[in-house]
Amino acid sequence: MRRSRRRTRSKSKWIGRLFFIVFVVLLSVAGVTEAKVIKMQRKNGNLKTQINDIETNKKNLAEKNKKLLANIEEKQNLYKKKMENVKIAYLTFDDGPSSNTQDILDILDKYDIKATWFVNAHKNLEYLYKKIDENGHVIANHGYSHDYDKIYKSVDSFKENAKKLEEFISNITGKPMSKMIRYNGGSNNTKSHRYGGNDIMTKIIKEMDKEGYVYFDWNVDSTDASKYRQDKDKIVSSVLNYSKRKKQANILMHDLNPKTTTVQALPEIIEGLQKQGFIFDVLSENSYKPQFKKVK
Ligand SMILES: [Zn+2]
Repeated sequence: MRRSRRRTRSKSKWIGRLFFIVFVVLLSVAGVTEAKVIKMQRKNGNLKTQINDIETNKKNLAEKNKKLLANIEEKQNLYKKKMENVKIAYLTFDDGPSSNTQDILDILDKYDIKATWFVNAHKNLEYLYKKIDENGHVIANHGYSHDYDKIYKSVDSFKENAKKLEEFISNITGKPMSKMIRYNGGSNNTKSHRYGGNDIMTKIIKEMDKEGYVYFDWNVDSTDASKYRQDKDKIVSSVLNYSKRKKQANILMHDLNPKTTTVQALPEIIEGLQKQGFIFDVLSENSYKPQFKKVK
């Protein structure tokens, strides 16, 4: 009896110890878990702060963006207003190059102005086409030959004449030529009727439009082709009078050996146009196009 009572007592002692151990283990596990929870809560708090910071940054950036866009719009409107008041003069020289080309180039260089040259093919003057191109001017198409009887004979002969010049020029400059063209004598000339019939210009314009060419007549005539050698003062006054009250002036001049008075008139023309408020530009396919003959 006494023996079994002692055994029972030691058994319960062990059970008590076991309970105590389990209790201690549970306590420490709980302690670790609590530390983990605190750590996670701290992390969570940090993330929330970060999210708040990002939201604030986002708001600030959106406001900045709004201000920038408003600024851009304001500048664009200002630019548009300025451009509405800008007057542009396009100096154009037809039929060159010639013995006057170098002088014209020098004058244009002096004023830092670029021009557009509607050229023909002149053998042995290749170096001048090169100079025109290298000085930043624009070379445009006025046909390989300028002979009305050959070029206005038919649509095909006109087209061939234009393509032949393209090949001639691109062999010199090493780049494709622009598709800008000026019809010899203007798009409404009647001289061509003698060689190709009364509707030759309509037919040619339709075909060249289809081929992607863009044609330019002029709205200011320097009158340097009205005489073998026009009076210098007459050239100056013609250009300045015709340009008055125009916002875009496409000025017809000639670069041919006899046209020495055109060269002499050029500085006065440039300064006179500048006084009228013109700036100068070269023609591009999108420029303002005076066209005498409109073909649907
Ligand atoms: Zn011409």
